[in-house]
Amino acid sequence: MVKDLRDFDRQDMEDLIAELREPKYRSNQLFQWVHKHGAELVDEMTNLPLSLRSKIRERADIFHPKVLEKLTSKKDNTIKMLLEFSDGETVESVIMPNEAKKRCTVCVSTQVGCPVGCPFCASGSSGFIRNLRTGEIVSQVLIAKSMEKDETWKVTNVVFMGMGEPLLNYDAVLKSVRILNDPLGLNIGQRKITISTAGYVPGILKLAEEKLQVVLAVSLHSVENEVRDFLVPLNKKYPLEELAWALKEYSKKSGRRITFEYSLIEGLNDTIECAEKLAAFVSQFKANVNIIPLNPVDEFGFKRSSSSKIQNFAAVLRNKGVETSVREERGLDIEGACGQLRLRYLQ
Ligand code: SAH
Ligand code: SF4
Repeated sequence: MVKDLRDFDRQDMEDLIAELREPKYRSNQLFQWVHKHGAELVDEMTNLPLSLRSKIRERADIFHPKVLEKLTSKKDNTIKMLLEFSDGETVESVIMPNEAKKRCTVCVSTQVGCPVGCPFCASGSSGFIRNLRTGEIVSQVLIAKSMEKDETWKVTNVVFMGMGEPLLNYDAVLKSVRILNDPLGLNIGQRKITISTAGYVPGILKLAEEKLQVVLAVSLHSVENEVRDFLVPLNKKYPLEELAWALKEYSKKSGRRITFEYSLIEGLNDTIECAEKLAAFVSQFKANVNIIPLNPVDEFGFKRSSSSKIQNFAAVLRNKGVETSVREERGLDIEGACGQLRLRYLQ
């Protein structure tokens, strides 16, 4: 079966070139074509001899996803895309340029659907279909790269916060992190890469052993097991006590601080008492909190807390010495909540 060159890291490229009995330096050229220049065809690789290109094509090719939809926010230039892979499955990815700072964050999906099934999230609402391959994850960043506007912004950050639970697709996610970080590729700094998890404990413990500098973000949403069981059903398997223990292990081993994400939902997790309990929980760690105002999906019936409630909630955390940010809302005019665009497409 023909393989996807975007699945290949440097070692895989070396193995392929060795198998073809070609000089080793060709593997770096191949890697750069695929992961730095984002070639969509092997025939674009003009500094590789024709004979080598055809030998490569017998074994591997480039699987470039199709952009089914591309919506650009008039308010903040956020670009939301629906991508289709060769088997017809679709995912979303979001490009968030910051022209003032000349930066750009790409939000990538890691699974088609999501097995966790948080009730406020559009990604999990149609169930879980399959994991993405490394190449399918990397492709999302390469597509963003191809949209770079020279003077205005460049892809600088990648967040694994699209559809799916990254730590349930561990190997493909870690391989894509290493490819994106490779100096011969896009060379995205590890500290500019964030992996967000709903709290899959075995994945957190495994990540602790990797000696990576990536940012780990944990979707908390409540520090009471009863409420969290409902909001993040994975909590039934890995309750807060176990999650806290795993995060302490992670902190000890990685030396990295943790980001907690907390989506504020009216009447569910947004009282002053909730904020006080959250502050106490977070104080066990070297951590900061990112409050996400809920992006309501009409069918689900959850509401976003009012802005004054959001500000009061953040103030309680800050008063207790917890570093807190409130996420800037982006792309609200283009199906803001992740998974919404695909959901509409599936209907
Ligand atoms: N599965 C991972 C990563 C993807 S979701 C995780 O859950 O962490 C990224 C973040 O967006 C999570 O914190 C998730 O809870 C949050 N989220 C999902 N749907 C949302 C919505 N409609 N409004 C606000 N935040 C949402
Ligand atoms: Fe999955 Fe994350 Fe959505 Fe929960 S919030 S259903 S874990 S993608």
